Amino acid sequence: MLDLTPRDGVAQRHALVINPAKTCQPVGAVYAALGVHRCMPHSHGSQGCVAFHRMYLTRHFKEPAMASTSAFTEGASVFGGGANLKTAIRNVFDLYDPDVMAIHTTCLSETIGDDLHSYLSDIEVPEGKHVIYCSTPSYVGSHIWGFASMTEGFVKQAAQKSGVATGRLALFPGFVNPGDMREYKRLMGQFGIRYTMLPDTSGVFDAPMTGTFELYPKGGTRFEDIVRLGDAAHSIALGEAASERPASQLQRDHRVSSEVMGLPIGVVATDVFVSALSRFSGEPVPYAIEEERGQVVDIMLDAQQYFKSRRVAIYGDPDTVLGIASLCLELGMVPSMMVTGSPMPTFQARASALLDGYGLADQCWAQDKADLFELHQRIIQGPVDLLVGGTHGKQIARAEDIPFVRAGFPIMDRYVHSYMPLVGYRGAMRLIELMSNALMDRQDRDCSDEDFEMVM
Ligand code: SF4
Repeated sequence: MLDLTPRDGVAQRHALVINPAKTCQPVGAVYAALGVHRCMPHSHGSQGCVAFHRMYLTRHFKEPAMASTSAFTEGASVFGGGANLKTAIRNVFDLYDPDVMAIHTTCLSETIGDDLHSYLSDIEVPEGKHVIYCSTPSYVGSHIWGFASMTEGFVKQAAQKSGVATGRLALFPGFVNPGDMREYKRLMGQFGIRYTMLPDTSGVFDAPMTGTFELYPKGGTRFEDIVRLGDAAHSIALGEAASERPASQLQRDHRVSSEVMGLPIGVVATDVFVSALSRFSGEPVPYAIEEERGQVVDIMLDAQQYFKSRRVAIYGDPDTVLGIASLCLELGMVPSMMVTGSPMPTFQARASALLDGYGLADQCWAQDKADLFELHQRIIQGPVDLLVGGTHGKQIARAEDIPFVRAGFPIMDRYVHSYMPLVGYRGAMRLIELMSNALMDRQDRDCSDEDFEMVM
């Protein structure tokens, strides 16, 4: 397994990515669009692109990911896809009757210079229907950029200010699972906060089996609520890489104040989020939430001997990696490697700030725009006790015989993960359980018979 990874150092590369820790921009754009109720994502490019985007999401969520395409062939690739887009908009509204189409570009349509803004200014959209668009060239950025671009597109093109305040909190949840979004909603509900969360994939990618196929499941942010975002009282952006842009757009366009914070993974980051909810609502933190926090701290104390000074390598989306690293530090672990394939100019600075707080900055390596091939080489040079990330790391885990915890995106070889939160105090409990089980299973596997304990 991965026998060709050099074992004698870390090879320097500048123009080649091997085993990327990211995927293409439209995957994120489709995910964001599917978090809007009765929205059909539309890929302005070839059929092969949208097949990939849908497949990628379906493999992670184990649910169908609907999206349409401009179906470029040779003609559109040479002369431009304007005619294809016009036909597609007519057909999609006629056949599938969405309330809104969310159009993103692809490498092909970007390379030939298709201008969605000018095309759309000439295309008639049926009465009462809406079209949102964004640019997602996949030779730059990542799925996180695509997610941010589509969310920003909804804010920029749909949100309005009527002057009648809604008193609502605008929550930009970050690139997280439906289980995380449900956890945000549960926490906001405990403070009695009225909110609009954009996007909201709960009830879409975790919709129940009813025996009837629903093209548009019950979940998703209502378009009319997106329109009212301009009248929101405040916004919170969770995850700088995925959520800062839509929050800034809302602030620029409609002067809705905003706070940007990390994903609430771990006790400290969840404290920051819960405090923000308390400030916004004007309510003290309810006992039920304090109780959960106390339970997490108790669990951390109970299991601390299994985590202390263990070296962990974490890879995946930047906001998720920083969040998981924060929890690992709270547990006494050393996040010796933190890797994201997504570009995030502040990634190293954010990682350093986290590590500095524990005096560990000089023992750890954090890098954006990196790949799993480099991570593998570095693990060979400086072994770790635990590997945490999406499915694409399983070959490294097998090759180097490292305990492996699947967390983040994508997870294509397991079930249930998208229903279970990583955020909030409950998410911290789940991550601690997953990581401690992995470490203790390894101890059970490797120990001698006389040390094979029933009680740990
Ligand atoms: S060609 Fe570009 S947009 Fe299409 S699937 Fe590949 S990376 Fe994504």
